[in-house]
Amino acid sequence: MLSGRAGSRAPNTVSTDMELHHDIAGLRRSVATARQQGHSIAVVPTMGHLHEGHLTLVREALSRGSFVVCTVFVNPMQFGRNEDLDSYPRTLEDDRRNLEAAGCHCLFAPSVREIYPHGLDVHTRVSVPGLSEGHCGAGRPGHFDGVATVVCKLFNIVLPDIAIFGQKDYQQLQVIRAMAADLCFPVRIIGIPTQRAASGLALSSRNSYLSSEQRDTAAAIYRILRQTADLLKDDGTVDYRQREQNALDQLREAGLEPEYFSICAADTLKPASPEDRELVILAAARTGGTRLIDNISVTL
Ligand code: AMP
Repeated sequence: MLSGRAGSRAPNTVSTDMELHHDIAGLRRSVATARQQGHSIAVVPTMGHLHEGHLTLVREALSRGSFVVCTVFVNPMQFGRNEDLDSYPRTLEDDRRNLEAAGCHCLFAPSVREIYPHGLDVHTRVSVPGLSEGHCGAGRPGHFDGVATVVCKLFNIVLPDIAIFGQKDYQQLQVIRAMAADLCFPVRIIGIPTQRAASGLALSSRNSYLSSEQRDTAAAIYRILRQTADLLKDDGTVDYRQREQNALDQLREAGLEPEYFSICAADTLKPASPEDRELVILAAARTGGTRLIDNISVTL
């Protein structure tokens, strides 16, 4: 059934027969068949409401693996009590169509019950201390435990060779890289550059909460990230804490409510010191109640 579909066709060919599984057993059978046929398995974990950023990940997966599984699961374990779990956009039919048009081979869209049959009060959680603690982890306690736990489960369900994530969620990517290395997952983790609107605003499922005015306001996040990155490269000032304060003021002046703006060492995510050459600047800010994140990498 699989032969002639995965691997043997051109990556851009429109597929009309993408598989859809809601249950773990069905997905496992499908992946096992693909593997028996010699395919390499690439997975793209998402929470759905797919946009061009997600589809770029899928295209990358198609160029690196010959059987591509995209997962759509709004993971309740990574949402805090007062967050947008209930209102998070769920558009599975559109997602299915977009994935099929992109040439994805298999969509795994499990229910919460399928992933957490006994509820969220699980016996085992995966925690990546250190990397999970600052930045988004400070404002969203338990968030990265939820992410690491569900990605660990998805890796054990799909058994991929390759997993594709976006650099837009930079801290998440570092957490997942560390989790995969520490737990000896035989999975190659690939990070893909952030896809943006013409204004510079990072594409995000949560952008659908924004009015057009709020979208304009939100574009200041990347503008200020870029300006700060340019300053770090150009004038060599290493008073990073002062730079962070200036950027927080600029975000407020642009009409945003900043949560953090952190100039960090790219690998540890600790506050950057003058000796660090590879930096990442991480930012989170709200407009109209919508929380947005973005980042920029800087090599000095
Ligand atoms: P999400 O559905 O928001 O959990 O995102 C699923 C995956 O898509 C994550 O690896 C994200 O980092 C990635 N992603 C989300 N937005 C973008 C974007 N604008 N560019 C690249 N990757 C993205």
